Amino acid sequence: MLTTKRYELWFVVGSQHLYGKKTLDEVAEHSEMMVSAMNEEFNEHFTIVMKPVMTNANDIYQLCLEANRTAHCAGLLTWMHTFSPAKMWIRGLKSLTKPLLHLHTQYNRDLPWDSINMDFMNLNQSAHGDREFGYMNARMKTRPKVVVGHWQDRNVINEIKRWATSALAFNESHAIKVARFGDNMNHVAVTDGDKVEAQIQFGWQVDGFGIGDLVAKMEALTEEEIDSLMAEYETIYKFDGPLQVDGPERDAVREQAKIELGLEYFLKEGQYTAFTTNFDTLHGMKQLPGLAVQRLMAKGYGFGGEGDWKTAALLRLMKIMSGGKETSFMEDYTYHLKPGEEGILQSHMLEVCPTIASDQPRVEVHPLAIGGKEDPARLVFNAQPGKGICVTVIDMGERFRFIVNDVETIEMTENMPHLPVARAFWKPAPSLHESAKAWILAGGTHHTAYSTQLTYQHIKDYAEMTGSECLHIGEKFNLDDFTNELKWNELYYKFM
Ligand code: MN
Repeated sequence: MLTTKRYELWFVVGSQHLYGKKTLDEVAEHSEMMVSAMNEEFNEHFTIVMKPVMTNANDIYQLCLEANRTAHCAGLLTWMHTFSPAKMWIRGLKSLTKPLLHLHTQYNRDLPWDSINMDFMNLNQSAHGDREFGYMNARMKTRPKVVVGHWQDRNVINEIKRWATSALAFNESHAIKVARFGDNMNHVAVTDGDKVEAQIQFGWQVDGFGIGDLVAKMEALTEEEIDSLMAEYETIYKFDGPLQVDGPERDAVREQAKIELGLEYFLKEGQYTAFTTNFDTLHGMKQLPGLAVQRLMAKGYGFGGEGDWKTAALLRLMKIMSGGKETSFMEDYTYHLKPGEEGILQSHMLEVCPTIASDQPRVEVHPLAIGGKEDPARLVFNAQPGKGICVTVIDMGERFRFIVNDVETIEMTENMPHLPVARAFWKPAPSLHESAKAWILAGGTHHTAYSTQLTYQHIKDYAEMTGSECLHIGEKFNLDDFTNELKWNELYYKFM
């Protein structure tokens, strides 16, 4: 399983010397209590680290530089406990390259009506100080995430957690390397784009290879390695008669085991965390990669079919955000337009990730209409019902555009006995007609990355951190507003 390192979030509290040392000591004491409580909530994924209370421009500048150069610092959580002049933040904010969250909170939840005096008012003054800080961020176009509410409030904690997931992905995004075997297939436009710009915006490095580099890795494998992976398949998946020892289809599965091992060696050697294949350039391969790709996605690798490097990198990004759970490459395949039941059958020729399976996947071997190779082995299953998002990223020329659609995967009641591929049937919000209309107007791909573990907000926050456009098609959708947003965004990105 591809994992990421553990990250810290730095808790940075702004104040000043106006009210004396006692006030600053109390600010530090309150902040430490808050950090300690938040760490109990975040412990599974992050450590929140308390930094000294900031009272001058040089300390803030030095702290921002330190955050930039600390690889395991995911970002800053800032809060102005008392009134804090924001001019002292200018130099630091100008230099900061890490994600910034502005937590607009207050140590006390309730006003102490009977004991409140001016000392209390001066100490608990974020209503003032955070607005001053807000002005500076607005003026400098820093665009931090702003979270408002008491620090013990469940919604506040969840909002910070969600943002932290996007901040983690932002930091890890620069380590995403995509290996492409062959170029874009069939001269498709939407899956292509500017790879240099993607590396500038997101840090995604995209490298091309010939399939012969993979074939060489497959030829170097030992029989023992392949036997051992076959044994693993048999313990995890349904293996029917023709696939068992001496069965007529067993060798076909063995071929996918070779592809999986060869691919994994290749990717590890070059530190690649995502890859694409192309069914037209398979010289030296007996089968199209099927089961092998599904298995690698389940291990956390990003993947895009037909040379689609943007979706491959996006899937890896969403695997990072979701911790690898229930997240897959997907394709809009065919519609069910019966009134009242409208939805989209999602699938691909072979490559859907088994982390979204509702039942134990079955290994099957069948011919494929394209590719001109031997019958490939693949995992067949239905997707787990539930709510999720599907996401695409497209190149609009001077910017990248994310499009997020809220979808609900429906329990599969039909068997579809002649369709031996993994599949999902989903209803996009707010309706198939509205969603498809918006998706087409926005120029979205037929390829998406799908996850039941993430929400629009995860993608939106990442898009904000990278200065990208992000469109949402959800329950509260309005087509007039959406088409206006498309027009206004054209203008906005012209000036950016
Ligand atoms: Mn496709």
